[in-house]
Amino acid sequence: MANAFELSKTVSNITESATLGMAKIARQLKSEGKDIISLSIGEPDFDTPKNICDAAHKASLEGYTHYPPVLGLPEFRKAICEKLKNENNLNYNLNEIIVSTGAKHSLINAVMAVVNKGDEVILPAPYWVSYPTMVEYVGATVVPIKTTIENNYKPSVADFEKAITPKTKLIIFSNPTNPSGSVWKEEELKQIADLLEKYPQILIISDEIYEHINYSGNHCSFAGIPGMKERTATVNGLAKGYAMTGWRIGYLAGPEWWVKACEKIQGLFTSAANSVAQMAGVEALLNSQDEIAEMKGIFEKRKQLVQEKLGMIEGLKLNNPEGAFYFFPQVDYFFGKKYNGTVIHNAGDLCMYLLKEAEVATVGGDPFGSPKSIRLSYATSEENLIEACRRLKIALDKLID
Ligand code: PMP
Ligand code: GLU
Repeated sequence: MANAFELSKTVSNITESATLGMAKIARQLKSEGKDIISLSIGEPDFDTPKNICDAAHKASLEGYTHYPPVLGLPEFRKAICEKLKNENNLNYNLNEIIVSTGAKHSLINAVMAVVNKGDEVILPAPYWVSYPTMVEYVGATVVPIKTTIENNYKPSVADFEKAITPKTKLIIFSNPTNPSGSVWKEEELKQIADLLEKYPQILIISDEIYEHINYSGNHCSFAGIPGMKERTATVNGLAKGYAMTGWRIGYLAGPEWWVKACEKIQGLFTSAANSVAQMAGVEALLNSQDEIAEMKGIFEKRKQLVQEKLGMIEGLKLNNPEGAFYFFPQVDYFFGKKYNGTVIHNAGDLCMYLLKEAEVATVGGDPFGSPKSIRLSYATSEENLIEACRRLKIALDKLID
């Protein structure tokens, strides 16, 4: 039945998350009996380690069932401060941390807290799908920095400088990067920080949710670079590294004025994050990290496997991800090709073709700001990956001029 009421312009002007949208289609097709292999959503296939689940159970029996302070339980914020000190060499106090309902929530709080209508926000592209929508939601303008697969989708300092204008308020980037898997090294981040010394009005959101899935050496936190802590909000969470996507816990560490503004927004709109999940978070951050390292090892093995298999597909130009769990190959070789009456005009068409022909779900590069590429998540079993790559090769080989 048609809706007689009009939706708000705000919601009408935004499009559904492409990652969650594709995951929804894959789920739906599976429930209809199709043998879909989903390489769409970025979600570890592992269950949360048992010690973390036990801590949640214990917390629920010990009375952690009331409204926590909006900033987060002191026990958890203390654990986050310890983690930041031990793993990132960053000193924060409890009032410089706010816990939210997932890193996504931390990000929108942080954007709403500082960005005005008419401001410009720089996003190195490919960027994660939710960033531009968050920016547009507050009436600001996205300024993407285009990159190429040849430089592993990383812009140069000169590219950053070209994107800066007097209206620039904020830069948002993820490291390791979703969707490219690229990792920003300390030297590269230092060069960006040097540039930013010239522009003291610009703030930074450094999204480090894939910190623990980095195959290229030590993670470098942008806030750790001299001069940057005062204007950087570091966003992180438990979803990826600890296989805790469903627990919905993210956090932000930043200057107290920024955290206080997030507290104000969060207090009015959603309140504190789930108390039991926060206590599980204490266990996750402070106790043994062995399972985390094990999961990373498995992701790395899968990466090598997929690299080898996808490398055998003609026309698929592979990037070299050093972190996260995604490949972001360039696929424009297939544009204009066809099979059985289906013509591939763009990356979105290719994803739909792969879904139909190979029963493999992927995500087109457009919503990530890189229309010539598609994203494949390898956060699934080796068996699924082998089968998915086999089917992808057959389907892609069928496309002809
Ligand atoms: N940032 C990036 C780069 C992500 O890929 C994701 C995906 N979940 C998030 C933030 C949001 O994480 P969460 O599930 O904790 O909201
Ligand atoms: N971040 C994951 C992804 O990019 C999960 C989906 C989402 O939260 O958008 O697939």
